[in-house]
Amino acid sequence: MPDAETRTSAQRRFDSSWARDRFIDALVTQIEPRLLAIRRELHQHPELSNREVRTARCILYRLQELGIPDIRTNVAHHGIVATIHGARPGRVVGIRADMDALPIDEPPGLPFASTTPGVMHACGHDVHMTVALGTAEVLYRLRQHLAGTVKLLFQPAEEGPPPGEEGGAKQMIAEGALDAPRPEAIFALHCYPPLEAGQLGYNPGVMMSSCDRFTITIQGKMAHGAYPHRGVDAIVVASTVVMLLQTIRSRMIDAQQPMVLTVGTVQGGRRYNIVADEVVLQGTVRAFDEKVRSETEALIHRLVSNAVAGSGATCDIRYERLVPPLVNDSALVERMLPTLRRVVGRKQVVEHAPRMGAEDFAYFAREIPAMFYSLGVSNRAAGLDGDIHTPQFVVDETCIGVGVRAMTALVFDFLET
Ligand SMILES: [Zn+2]
Ligand SMILES: [Zn+2]
Repeated sequence: MPDAETRTSAQRRFDSSWARDRFIDALVTQIEPRLLAIRRELHQHPELSNREVRTARCILYRLQELGIPDIRTNVAHHGIVATIHGARPGRVVGIRADMDALPIDEPPGLPFASTTPGVMHACGHDVHMTVALGTAEVLYRLRQHLAGTVKLLFQPAEEGPPPGEEGGAKQMIAEGALDAPRPEAIFALHCYPPLEAGQLGYNPGVMMSSCDRFTITIQGKMAHGAYPHRGVDAIVVASTVVMLLQTIRSRMIDAQQPMVLTVGTVQGGRRYNIVADEVVLQGTVRAFDEKVRSETEALIHRLVSNAVAGSGATCDIRYERLVPPLVNDSALVERMLPTLRRVVGRKQVVEHAPRMGAEDFAYFAREIPAMFYSLGVSNRAAGLDGDIHTPQFVVDETCIGVGVRAMTALVFDFLET
């Protein structure tokens, strides 16, 4: 056993962030082949939201294999919360990784392509889980150097639970994932194809938009197509409504405020020569600001109900708030930015603009200071640059080691500063 003086100097050597990064680099290089195997296993067996049974089993197996004793399962259906206690007391920090895949057919090509028809890890959540597992391994093996507690949250149903079901970040929070102990900050990353593997992206404030869904059911009156004056044509009314909805963005919301309104589906009509009695419109609203979000909701109700009433039809308007805007804690981002720059190099860390996509990590970010950052995954020289949520999505797997190094460094630095 080393004497006190040797231990102290060893500790001191480790405490220098430069030395610790080198140590972690070596550890990550050592575990990388195993991480790639885990990622490929997860990729090969993707599961849809709230159906992550095999995925959860795989994560649990790995956490138990590492020897982590404090594991809670079945959180928000198939979620897992694992807690790593450092040797010394300190603050509490959280890491979140999402688990679900998308209803997309993966094209053949990769030796570890999805074996489940119609389901694919096309949002990179297999990478996120692998990074979290790699981070868990590094932190657990270095727990004698850790001052504080790390909570790893493996979250199901990020893409949204199936109709009629609850799930995702909101339910994890409701089931106490952030309680006892409560993290003071939480980190998460997401695969981001516009950046190359080796790069990281950040945003100090609003990073992603809200995501809401509206469903407008217009009820007219059926008639023979030759005698439309005897009915109320739901298709004509719906057409007016679609055009009217465009004026919310162009004429009613402050031009300085980002907002998107998209009508995604129009369903109605029975036959070419029958006046349609019913049309259902569905669409989405995206905004960075809660006030704009509420204004848009109110405008949809007002414009649509007035237009429909004027036409003689009736309507039912359903507006569902799915995910709030994702707002990073600017003080936390500012504090952790030097860490990201140290890990991958100053020029490899880029600030990027907020995006109109949504992410249910936003619920965690509403509860505690959060930092959601982007993991570069592309390799354009090698032709790997497909976008997320498409069958072409593919990553350069060197991004996994980068993710583990970044996440581990964030945890150590957060707990020590
Ligand atoms: Zn996604
Ligand atoms: Zn995603």
